[in-house]
Amino acid sequence: MKKLIIAIDGPSGSGKSTTGKALANRLGYLYIDTGAMYRAVALFLLRNNVSLSDESEITKLLKKIEIDLKGDPYNLQVVLNGENVTDQIRTAQISQSASIVSAINSVRQFLVERQRYLGRDGGVVMDGRDIGTHVFPQAQVKFFLFADLIERARRRNLEEVTRGEHMSLQETLQEIEERDSRDSKREYAPLRPATDSIQLNTSNLSPNQVVDLMMEHIKKRDEAIQLGA
Ligand code: C5P
Repeated sequence: MKKLIIAIDGPSGSGKSTTGKALANRLGYLYIDTGAMYRAVALFLLRNNVSLSDESEITKLLKKIEIDLKGDPYNLQVVLNGENVTDQIRTAQISQSASIVSAINSVRQFLVERQRYLGRDGGVVMDGRDIGTHVFPQAQVKFFLFADLIERARRRNLEEVTRGEHMSLQETLQEIEERDSRDSKREYAPLRPATDSIQLNTSNLSPNQVVDLMMEHIKKRDEAIQLGA
């Protein structure tokens, strides 16, 4: 199979990272979680007591931030300036802060440049909000995942509680509603399906069923590419 660029976009809890990891694993591709990069920027800013509304200070500080993603899909390590911050970036506070800083154009430019570099050779599954529309509009396969709000909140809440965060389902639901609204309404690269994306409703599907569906689409696309379509 050709080394494709596979974009997976969608709102929080739609199943992007679970299916993205499994898909990359099946294909032997690199898996890149772009949300983790926005989270790492947010962590850096919070640790340095920078106001998330101070765009000019944030823009200045970007040159002090180095983010690396290491390891295989199931053991992805997020490294911020040499420190492994994989666990620290998963709190509800960082989720909201990442969503706030992701609306700043200089932050997006900074991370998009890095994402394009990481995916430049193909053979990559990249998940986020703007991969098919903005980071790799030329991606050969684009998926847009969605699911009912309550199902997405249940999935996210289970992750939070498993990590030891005491969030009620109602609090998680409110958190993802706020984030989705902010992500969809922002001026730069908002969350929306690419016109040529394959839209999958994951509400009543297991991760394996979603990945099976994705594989069918990828095989068809790969055959079409081989035939020169
Ligand atoms: O996917 P995840 O929940 O980890 O993303 C955290 C936040 O980062 C999102 O709510 C969104 O605001 C931002 N994000 C983005 N563009 C991406 C990936 C994530 O704006 N490509």
